[in-house]
Amino acid sequence: MSATYELIIIGAGPAGLTAGIYAKRAGLDVLVIEDPSLPSQALSATQIENYPGFPQGISGRELIERFRKQAEGIGVEFKKGKVYNLTLLSSQRWEVESEEGKARGIALIIASGAHPKELGVKGERELKGKGVSYCAICDGNFFREQEIVVVGGGNSALEASLFLSKIVKKIVLVHRRDELRGVKVLQKRVFANRKISVCWNSIVEEILGEDRVEGVRVFNLRSGEKQIIPCAGVFIQVGSVPNTEFVKDVVERDKEGYIITDEKMCASREGIFASGDCRSTALRQVITACGDGALAVVSAQQYIHQQRS
Ligand SMILES: Cc1cc2nc3c(=O)[nH]c(=O)nc-3n(C[C@H](O)[C@H](O)[C@H](O)COP(=O)(O)OP(=O)(O)OC[C@H]3O[C@@H](n4cnc5c(N)ncnc54)[C@H](O)[C@@H]3O)c2cc1C
Repeated sequence: MSATYELIIIGAGPAGLTAGIYAKRAGLDVLVIEDPSLPSQALSATQIENYPGFPQGISGRELIERFRKQAEGIGVEFKKGKVYNLTLLSSQRWEVESEEGKARGIALIIASGAHPKELGVKGERELKGKGVSYCAICDGNFFREQEIVVVGGGNSALEASLFLSKIVKKIVLVHRRDELRGVKVLQKRVFANRKISVCWNSIVEEILGEDRVEGVRVFNLRSGEKQIIPCAGVFIQVGSVPNTEFVKDVVERDKEGYIITDEKMCASREGIFASGDCRSTALRQVITACGDGALAVVSAQQYIHQQRS
């Protein structure tokens, strides 16, 4: 991979795929690079019910497959590789280095999304893949008819609990506050589900087990009491971290690492645009990622034309 493109898009989630479609339709010579080890977060969404056009909802996997089919259908070029470095060459071209090689672009759109946040407790790393999971849809089936713990209180934790309730025997949802943060419609479904109980005002202190998860030790922030909840699996759903490490010395990021852009998706360096969940923004959803991706292409196109003239 050493070719020169007008536009290189880093990421193939809703933001990157939409950008690819808009770029190709605008007649740009475009490449999309995706990290095969880090799938789009949308693939973990069991059912997406807030993306217009699908009144019955659609699984994240199917939605992404449709986006991708549309992009591939109009000839968007895809390459696999984890991007780890961006350099501005004297020719005013950006060089993108990935594990698979190098490519050059006049403009770049960073659409690298985010990944799940870790709890940072003892036992978490040691038992990852041995009962500790960050993706209900990927790993739920391993816990058929078993008792599990879900950690978190936002939409991801509620969605994961509801999805897992169709597979497992019992779920304890451990949440640090006395009310859930997720949207009301999901809260209602969780409270109505007899397999799910909530362990309020509590944090997981340690994940227990030798070769596999056997339980979690939780600490009640109000009473100061500790208890062990026996379980075969722990699903951690406590938020996300942006996949922006590779741009940390290139563009400005906010204190959490999200890329700062203006309303036209321009990042702090000329020729670099950002879109979707990796961007510092008030809402991170499929629809906002798609909108960002489209807008980033319009700005990138203007920049590319300026460079050409
Ligand atoms: C469990 C769950 C449920 C959700 N439910 C909903 C819902 O109901 N409705 C809704 O609208 N949204 C939902 N979301 C949010 C939605 O999935 C995200 O907002 C959306 O996927 C963001 O799109 P994105 O393109 O910005 O990033 P992502 O979808 O995360 O895609 C990032 C892409 O960047 C690539 N990448 C990352 N780093 C690199 C690198 N260094 N080099 C190359 N490629 C890289 C990855 O391979 C991937 O292709 C849910 C998310 C989760 C986790």
